Amino acid sequence: MSVHYDLHSHSRESDGTLSPSELVAAAHAGGVNVLALTDHDTTDGLAEATQSAGQLGMQLVPGVEISVSWQSQTIHVLGLGVNPASELLQAGLSGLREFRNWRAAEIGRRLAKAGIPGCHAGACKLAEGRIVGRTHFAHHLVAEGHARSVRDVFKRFLVNNKPGYVSGKWATLEDALGWIDSAGGLAVVAHPARYRMTASKLRCFLGEFRECGGVGMEVISGSHTRDNVTAMAALCRTHNMLASCGSDYHGPENPWIRLGQLPALPAGCPPVWESDRWPVNRADIQ
Ligand code: AMP
Ligand code: MN
Ligand code: MN
Ligand code: MN
Repeated sequence: MSVHYDLHSHSRESDGTLSPSELVAAAHAGGVNVLALTDHDTTDGLAEATQSAGQLGMQLVPGVEISVSWQSQTIHVLGLGVNPASELLQAGLSGLREFRNWRAAEIGRRLAKAGIPGCHAGACKLAEGRIVGRTHFAHHLVAEGHARSVRDVFKRFLVNNKPGYVSGKWATLEDALGWIDSAGGLAVVAHPARYRMTASKLRCFLGEFRECGGVGMEVISGSHTRDNVTAMAALCRTHNMLASCGSDYHGPENPWIRLGQLPALPAGCPPVWESDRWPVNRADIQ
């Protein structure tokens, strides 16, 4: 029997819409055998997800998606197999959440200046005291009739040069990879084809990522096209990296991203789960 891996997903603890246990149940129903929960800048959903996965006979890989600033761009780095009890990891994530809270208030101020008041309160209400992200602003703005869809909100309000855009001041690459390493995890570049980098800049980034101790990159991602997969597979091979696959599932509202439907990794890309540092291959967490 082949094992179905999905190593990138979100719950309500960040900007997903399902609770951790609902997410695990949905992944199980979709045929996923090994699921990583990788919420943005928090590990708060891991305990609940691990418990639910245990009840369903699924393996839950404890993960996190860390926001990183690199050369004035935001890059997402996944920590897979992290120990949430790591103090260094938690201190780092808590700093990122502080920035998120400040940024949320600032996004609210900017949107108010642009003539749309009340967005900060609206986004915070949707986040229910958990992490506040741009997605919460997007859902609020759609609900209030300011845009047709979440995608539309991003395009019109929340990206560079738009009224609600605030540039990220996230972790440095070195810090993020240090936190992941100290928590025993493997660092993997999330959706590398999505950063709109030139090929040479992406190669430069991957080189630095490797130097800082990063080992993997997503070759298969819910946000990669077929051409992206081919290009990322080639980079994965030339940079001697391990390949990962993840849907980046955020909930059933985005029906084009489904759990349990990922294609197989291309030939010649060694999977991240064959690393001797992969959780189930490690004696310390069996
Ligand atoms: P944040 O970390 O709060 O800046 O928000 C980033 C998140 O917003 C990503 O993880 C996606 O879930 C979502 N996102 C980013 N760009 C878009 C887009 N163009 N359309 C829909 N969702 C997006
Ligand atoms: Mn997200
Ligand atoms: Mn991401
Ligand atoms: Mn993600």
